[in-house]
Order: sequence, then C-alpha cells, then structure tokens
Amino acid sequence: MKTTNKVPYVNLSRQWETEKQELLPVIESILGSGNYIGGDQVSKFEESVAKLCGVKYAVALNSGTDALMSGLAAIGVRPGDEVITPPNSFIASTAAVVHLKAVPVFVDVCDDQNIDPGKIEKAITKKTKAIMPVHLTGRVASMDEILRISEKYSIPIIEDAAQSIGSKWSGRTSGSFGAVGCFSTHPLKNLNACGDGGFLTTNDEKIYQNVSRYRNHGLVDRNTVEFFGLVSRMDALQAGILNFRIGKLPELIQARRANAEAYKKLLDRNFVYIPEDKPEEFNTFHTFVIQVDKRDELKNRLAELGVETSIHYPIPIHLQPASRSLGYKAGDFPVVEEQSRRILTLPIHQFLKREELEFVAESVNKFYKG
Ligand SMILES: *Cc1c(COP(=O)(O)O)cnc(C)c1O
Repeated sequence: MKTTNKVPYVNLSRQWETEKQELLPVIESILGSGNYIGGDQVSKFEESVAKLCGVKYAVALNSGTDALMSGLAAIGVRPGDEVITPPNSFIASTAAVVHLKAVPVFVDVCDDQNIDPGKIEKAITKKTKAIMPVHLTGRVASMDEILRISEKYSIPIIEDAAQSIGSKWSGRTSGSFGAVGCFSTHPLKNLNACGDGGFLTTNDEKIYQNVSRYRNHGLVDRNTVEFFGLVSRMDALQAGILNFRIGKLPELIQARRANAEAYKKLLDRNFVYIPEDKPEEFNTFHTFVIQVDKRDELKNRLAELGVETSIHYPIPIHLQPASRSLGYKAGDFPVVEEQSRRILTLPIHQFLKREELEFVAESVNKFYKG
C-alpha cells in the first residue's frame, strides 16, 4: 500500500515555517535582553489572556497541570476533600487532585463527552470542595446547569479549560465561569508555546495574589516567604512566542471551525456519530472526535492509507493502573467506557488542506460502505 496521501495529525513544523520570518526577530530580542523568566513579555501575555477570557486576572505558569494544582489549592481544596470531575479527561485533571491528597469523585458524561450535569448532585457529599468540569475537545460543558448546582450547594467551580481557549457558552468565554479557569499552552493546544506552559484565570484578587506567589516559592518580596510554593514561572521566550501567536488565534479557530463544518457535511452520518453543537456553544475544536463502530479497524485502515489519527482517550482514568486505590471498577461509568471504545480523533489542524480533509472523509465513508 502506497502512503503518498500522508495526512499528518498535527503539523507543528509547518506552523513554524509560516511564522519564522516574523517570530525570529522576537526570539532574538528576548534572548538579547537577558530577561529569561517572567518580565514584560509575561505581564503582556497575562493581560492579553485575561482580556481574551473576559476576567480580571491571569497568572502565567509552567503548565496546565500546575494551573490545576495551584487553582485547586487556591480555592481551598485540602487533603481528604472531594473534587467532582469526569473520568474521560487527560490524566492531568485527576492527577492534580491526587497530588493535593484530595479525592477525585467521578461522574459520567453526555454523548458529547462532557460531564453530565444531571449526575453531579448525586455525587455531592459533605466533603465536596469543588466541581471540576473539563471542556473537552474545545466544547464548553453545560455551564447553566453546573453554575446552578455550584450556587445551590456553595461549591466552587474550577474549569479545566486546557482544551478550550476562546470557546464560549452563551457568549461567555471559557475560564470565566468558575472561581478559577486553568489553561495549558502545551505545543499541542490551540494557543501553543514551543515547550511547556499554562495559565490560570480568575476574578478574585486574593486568588490572583495567592497563585502569583505560589508559582514563585511563596515569595512576597525578594527575601520573604509567606508559605512554601512551587517553581512554576513562565519563561520570557515562551511568553514572547505566545504573544505573537495569540494574534493568530482567531484565524486558527476559524480554520478549525471551517474544517469541522466540512467534515460534518462530508462524513456519512449513517456510520459516523458527531455530537451536534448546542445553540449556546461556540466550539473551537481543539480536537475533532467522531464516534464509530469498529473503531480500531477503521484506525488501522486509515493508517494504511497514510491518515494519522489519535484517540482521546482510550483508557478512562478510573480504569488506569494508577487509579487502583480510588476503588472504581469497569462498568462504573458506562457512557465513558462505551465512548472509549468508539471515539476516534481525526486531523483538524489549521494547515489541513481541503483535498486532505476530503480524502480523510472519503476514506472513512468507504471503510463502512465498501
Ligand atoms: C493538556 C491538558 C492538561 C494539562 O496541560 P499540561 O500543560 O500538559 O500540563 C490538563 N487537562 C486537559 C484536559 C488537557 O488537555
């Protein structure tokens, strides 16, 4: 089988090629400045993302995982407390809870892979300290219902918004609903650095101050440590790259949304399930996930044809070896478990050519129709 129709799942070298001319001088000036951690580029980045998310404050950090950990700590999650979250995220969501010696309490999801708000109230106990929806694939979870529950029980929301920069629900931007919003700027995210990075959003000045210090050893000034913190500062170089790329983000989101529309038109819905966008949603398509029978066979067939795909995520978190001590078993979350066997992530990046996208869709359709 020839693989001349190679369709890559991501294309980061292509991204660099398109921006190299403009970005190299930026990088050179940052390296020449001698300021490598924090500084003006980082402050500028924080102002830009706070504005983009519609919040008062943003704190730049070293990763999305650190944003989750410092966010959970800042809203008062302590050892033994429970945090409600879905079991079908990237492992970092649950890991952040466990690192604080708190207990993740899983709740099943809807057909769109986001937490099922109808199942949250049953999971609330006296120990519940936070509700952590994950806006998976770039689609904001059903926030009306989640906000209602949060208010009713006075339990704060921490949004895992790592996959949803710029996504909206009823006109409100992800990262602005909860007490804190947690974002990643990992190279594979829509707003991506050339290394690890992340940030936290909040409207609460106390949380802002707390996380600003927590990321830097708990230092309040050069010599005074108020509490023991992390080393989770953003590099000036990554901030400079992000400041450049944030200007391209609207265009990138438009390209991904257009690709999603094209897939929806071309893929044969007799065989391919694609969750509908609800009227409240503005989806930024960090990933484009279809749900199909014979997923593994389809994935193999596409690989033979040179189409790279991915699975987010093949093993639900409650069934990971690392989760053994949490006491869950197969069958506990039937929707997540069923989806883990049916989901397949197709290439949707902004450099995908129309012919490539058509080839992917045709290859999927052909697999089922013969
Ligand atoms: C990427 C991601 C994270 C973690 O971000 P890092 O920057 O890699 O630490 C957390 N949650 C979700 C849903 C993610 O996709």
